[in-house]
Amino acid sequence: MKKTLILYTGGTIGMDYLEGGLAPVKGLLQKQLDTLDIMKDVAIDLIEYDTLIDSSDINITHWQKIIQDISDNYDNYTGFIIIHGTDTMAYTASVLSFALRGLDKPVILTGSQLPLVHKRSDGWNNMIDALYAAGREDLHEVAIAFNNKLLRGCRAQKVSTYRFFGFDSVDAAPLAEFGIHINWFTKYWQKSQRFSFAPVIPQDNIKILDLSLRPGFTTDFIAETLYSTNAYAVILQTYGSGNIPMGNDMLVNAIKSAISRDIIIVNITQVNEGSVSNDYAAGQLYKLGIVNGRDMTAEAALAKLLILKSLGVTNDKIKKAMDKSLVGELNE
Ligand code: ASP
Repeated sequence: MKKTLILYTGGTIGMDYLEGGLAPVKGLLQKQLDTLDIMKDVAIDLIEYDTLIDSSDINITHWQKIIQDISDNYDNYTGFIIIHGTDTMAYTASVLSFALRGLDKPVILTGSQLPLVHKRSDGWNNMIDALYAAGREDLHEVAIAFNNKLLRGCRAQKVSTYRFFGFDSVDAAPLAEFGIHINWFTKYWQKSQRFSFAPVIPQDNIKILDLSLRPGFTTDFIAETLYSTNAYAVILQTYGSGNIPMGNDMLVNAIKSAISRDIIIVNITQVNEGSVSNDYAAGQLYKLGIVNGRDMTAEAALAKLLILKSLGVTNDKIKKAMDKSLVGELNE
């Protein structure tokens, strides 16, 4: 019999309209879900976290707990659902994608734009779609069920604060579409990993900087930061297909300085769709020793750097892994 474990971390879906604004209310989600017929057809357990959070409060400690809970219950369930706020859902989905090494069961994140207590809540749909996805024993990856789609977790990004179309994965096809029929696009699904389940618990002392280029003074601030940082890695969000102002000597020298100090710099583009390429002279960054992050999202780049370092991989090996697909996070 299929068994699903739901880990409830917080988010709008289980919130209510209180005096100070929308906030999570303990016990409310369980009560709401008990009214769902589908919940009676499948064996479901729900673990409500002691402190339910607005997901903007998510931190490494929460990720450690989610990973530990999945790990502790791994053999007893056929699928997992993480109920999560939408604001940082893509970060958690990315972290889980890399941390749950050897995953051979579905781990589905979901939430909603309107709480279940609202008459027009999108949460019911999302929850039911997540339950269907968590029931697919041939799905071996982390995904987000939202607005009638199932998206790869390490490819998805929040794209709207107010539409039900809250998430998209512009560089990767959806894994399923929930219409009148459910279309499971199994050809895009990750193959079962060849090694057994060996989750990585992220360390909380790993320093990663995320810098986004902007014209003007910001570029100088970025250069100053690169000279002084003791981060182990930097995500550099560049223009277009991976371009930086090569005419800015201060920036170019700062990049060289950081690389000479063994800091990993990963180049990803600020543009939603498409990849970093070496087509332009301004994009010849690999000559400086910058790693090409291809079409990775910032969320995925951050999670990959965090988990590979937590695993104890050397900087040289991390550099080589950054432009290779480990869990479907980029197109090589
Ligand atoms: N602020 C909320 C959260 O991320 C938004 C949501 O869940 O939609 O927890």
